Amino acid sequence: MKRLSIKMKVTIWYTGLIILMLGFVFTFIWLFAGQAVTYQAEKQVKKAVIESMEDISFQDRHFKRDDDFEFYEDGVSILIYNGNGTLLEGSLPSGFNDEEAVFAHDRIRTIVSKQTEWMVYDYQLNHDGQNVWMRGVMAIDPFAKTMNIIFLIVLVSIPILVLLAGFGGYWITKKAFKPIEEMNRAVNEIKDGKDLSKRIRLSGAKDEIHGLAETFNGMFERLEASFEIEKQFTADASHELRTPTSVIISHAEYALTQLDKPAEVKEALQTILRQSTKMSELINQLLQLARANQENVSITYETFDISELAEIVAEEMREIGEESDISIETDIEPNLKAEADQTLMMRLLMNLMMNGIAYNQENGFVKIKLYEENNQIIGEVSDNGIGIEKKEQEKIWERFYRVDSARTSTRNGNTGLGLSMAKWIVDMHHGTITVNSQLGKGSLFQFRIPKRRNE
Ligand code: ADP
Repeated sequence: MKRLSIKMKVTIWYTGLIILMLGFVFTFIWLFAGQAVTYQAEKQVKKAVIESMEDISFQDRHFKRDDDFEFYEDGVSILIYNGNGTLLEGSLPSGFNDEEAVFAHDRIRTIVSKQTEWMVYDYQLNHDGQNVWMRGVMAIDPFAKTMNIIFLIVLVSIPILVLLAGFGGYWITKKAFKPIEEMNRAVNEIKDGKDLSKRIRLSGAKDEIHGLAETFNGMFERLEASFEIEKQFTADASHELRTPTSVIISHAEYALTQLDKPAEVKEALQTILRQSTKMSELINQLLQLARANQENVSITYETFDISELAEIVAEEMREIGEESDISIETDIEPNLKAEADQTLMMRLLMNLMMNGIAYNQENGFVKIKLYEENNQIIGEVSDNGIGIEKKEQEKIWERFYRVDSARTSTRNGNTGLGLSMAKWIVDMHHGTITVNSQLGKGSLFQFRIPKRRNE
């Protein structure tokens, strides 16, 4: 069975509720209006009889009517009978047969005579053994008519109200759900066309559903951005790998044709070795980044002496620096304890210092400073090297981004991944990393990480 739409469910529910409520209200009115009308009629007949009685007096065993006695008062016919039930005064309303109405003292009742309902009230007067009956009669026809009118109103208004409630409810819910339908269509379009650049555009007033659409749009934006980055990454990675691969293949092929010339072969092998080393470095970094990109990558927190670690890294760098006459300076506050991932911290320091050495000039220096401030470990790696242009400073954190491949082409293994790795490490430790650099003067990289986890 096809499931009912929410629109239909809401409409059915409200229409049902309206029917039920109207049913209750009208039954209530019907019952109480009927009673009220009967009560009103009873009061009217009784009042007419009692008021007429005041206009009667007895003289010498005869009753006497005052001058203002009226036989028809307020819709009620007043009849006077003697003790035997013979009509003495007053005229029977047409259609009322008094033989059908047996006398009953002070009792109001309804009598049906010739298909008309009559309200009858009798009162017996006694004077010196003489009996006189006063009777008030009123057709309750007009009341029945009123009731019929009410009934008619109910009969006509219920369906109209129910239809109104049904259509109104359906219309309002349809309008309310329109943005959801639009949203559904938009999301389906995005899904079917696999086009993440599409967005949900809603018309009409701003309401909660617009808020939801905006949230979705925000999500699509982020998805699109991360897909873009992913696409770019794959394209860049394959491009980066293709170049050394084709160099290796062409040199290997060339070497095979030159087997009788050891010098040529040697040169080819050296090129192959260089390219393979570069590729190996690239693959290593790619693997690390791929692992880093996994959502639930776990970092191993431990408390260690980060000052000692920085000293060790600096020592190692000193050897590398020596090759290109670059001196390493340290300004490391001793015994700084940090709760962090030791391996990643080492990688961070190494990446920054290696860059300091690589992008330096002859007789330059690289300085590492480490201190503590406000429960944060602050590390600064500065150099007086070639510096980075302002407009490039934002991009250097991107994967594979190299400022100018010409100025780094002499170096092996510059993959453009070092700083993106550094940034990832700092992010993982809920820290920040910034660069301050001037072209031709040097650079200062500063990172801050909380001293303890969750701080
Ligand atoms: P790479 O493998 O090319 O060093 P990185 O991500 O480490 O990749 O750095 C990105 C770019 O930022 C480099 O190509 C380089 O031009 C620039 N850069 C990084 N560190 C420095 C520095 N200390 N001085 C000048 N330029 C730097």
